[in-house]
Amino acid sequence: MTHPFRSIPCGELNASRAGEPVRLAGWVHSRRDHGGVYFFDLRDRSGLVQVVARPQQAAAFEAAGKLGSEYAVSLTGVVMKRPAGSENPKLPSGEVEVEAAEIALLNPCKPLPFEIDDHATVSEEVRLKHRYLDLRRPRMQRNLTIRHRAAHAARLHLDRAGFIEIETPILTKSTPEGARDYLVPSRLSPGEFYALPQSPQIFKQILMVSGFERYFQLARAFRDEDLRSDRQPEHTQIDLEMSFVREEDIHAVVEGMLRDVFRAAIGVELELPFPRFEYEEVMARYGSDKPDLRFGLEIQELSDAFRDCGFRVFADAVKNGGVVRGILASGGALNRTDIDKLVDLAKTLGAKGLVWVRFKEGGQIDSPVAKFLDPKIFQDLRARLGPKDGEVLLLAAGPAIEAAKLLGALRNHLIVKLDLKPSRPWAMLWVLHFPLLERDEAGGWTFTHNPFTAPMEAELPKLDSDPGNVRSHQYDIVLNGVELGSGSVRNHRPEIQEKILALMGYDRTEQRQRFGLLLNALEHGAPPHGGVALGLDRLVALLAGEDSIRDVIAFPKTTQGLDLLSEAPSAVSERQLKELHIRLALKPDADPLPPR
Ligand code: ASP
Repeated sequence: MTHPFRSIPCGELNASRAGEPVRLAGWVHSRRDHGGVYFFDLRDRSGLVQVVARPQQAAAFEAAGKLGSEYAVSLTGVVMKRPAGSENPKLPSGEVEVEAAEIALLNPCKPLPFEIDDHATVSEEVRLKHRYLDLRRPRMQRNLTIRHRAAHAARLHLDRAGFIEIETPILTKSTPEGARDYLVPSRLSPGEFYALPQSPQIFKQILMVSGFERYFQLARAFRDEDLRSDRQPEHTQIDLEMSFVREEDIHAVVEGMLRDVFRAAIGVELELPFPRFEYEEVMARYGSDKPDLRFGLEIQELSDAFRDCGFRVFADAVKNGGVVRGILASGGALNRTDIDKLVDLAKTLGAKGLVWVRFKEGGQIDSPVAKFLDPKIFQDLRARLGPKDGEVLLLAAGPAIEAAKLLGALRNHLIVKLDLKPSRPWAMLWVLHFPLLERDEAGGWTFTHNPFTAPMEAELPKLDSDPGNVRSHQYDIVLNGVELGSGSVRNHRPEIQEKILALMGYDRTEQRQRFGLLLNALEHGAPPHGGVALGLDRLVALLAGEDSIRDVIAFPKTTQGLDLLSEAPSAVSERQLKELHIRLALKPDADPLPPR
């Protein structure tokens, strides 16, 4: 026991060490005065152990009397089996306690804003303001350990698979990923700005042109968006790119990596390969490009049943090339109020209404459209869907994509409303071949995911004739209804990349201005390449069973983008602004700080 602070972590003590002298270091978790004997739990990263200080050990007893919560201490003592009946089965060290001989106070602690305890109910604002204390809680220690294990397993896997980690710049030029950039003024180039990367996209493609063949990085990406609850202005991606590969090669790497990550982080064995769905199929069956496959409630294609029916809205939808699809709310009961709420929800989602059919006992049905439809149609629906008595079918008609989106939203709502139980803990899937382009707000074309995604070879002619229906090599990986990552095979031929940029409305000059860096590189023997980026924060939140990614990030920002611990963002001095050639144009009540 020559070390001044500790000989063993608290969490490693158990009955096998009874009788051993030990030196421990950690924080006083809670102290109890049991009439002439002090007990406290000593906590370090590894866990807790009970310490007892008796008057017979005068020095330790006196020191223990002065301890408060979260004081940092080091102590010597002997591991003792606890008296029979006083063991704590909830604690791994619960069979023993340490009888203290000496206690050295390393540092006291001011009164706490909250208990260092997973059960304390504390507002997130208070937790973030005192993050140094919040992170002492076992849950946060566990979460950040899971994060480390996940990141480490990903690195190990990729290293073994021949990837090399290469850092790309943080101060860079705007990357066109669709979000707003964070800008950093340049002192040396007055009036000019760096942008923080929204992703390392262009650099990783350039690394492929440079011959690295397999790149990865645990990369920080910055997007200045209005923050939703699960977003952060900066997030971490497991970012990778590969040369001379097909989609399936990239998917196989990600699957192997995720298997190692799950095993290392939470001891779960994932089954490979993950199911694969075409984008169209997943939209038709689940109404979402990130369906939660732990639940059933598949959407049914019912267009043929309504093609020539007497209800004009449905018959016309089919005649005009649209669909009638439905979702049977099976697994629970919906009463009239529930149905009315679903109809309201459909309206808030932009639908004109929502047609429903309740299948009742003895072949009877209830439906607002019963009078327009031949009873045979309901018999047909009953035969196809096999509803239980009382179950309700919700129907949507119109263009396929609109019907899909409406039914997908209803499906998500029904999963919660019917309180359905997931069929398994983890459901991973790939969604393949997203459309290359979609309409932007101004009616032009924009990329659905990434401006550098390659169209599928067979779809190339449609770039001229039908750009909105070009299927691409863009894919997503989805876990439990959450988009975990996204990637694609890229355009390695500059003429195709230029053509797509032109479709997106960039003329030749703009193309060179904004994408010149990449286009120049592509013109120098760029290999076929592709990659993916997975959101590490979201992945770890799922692994740790946390709803909020803030609980798996050491120092996150609030939904307003504030760091309550460091109080960023903050005003800067006049001198700093002057050096950057910046004059603020704020309203008078928002004066910057006086010069420092
Ligand atoms: N750069 C893309 C993103 O950040 C991912 C990729 O296509 O590799 O979402």
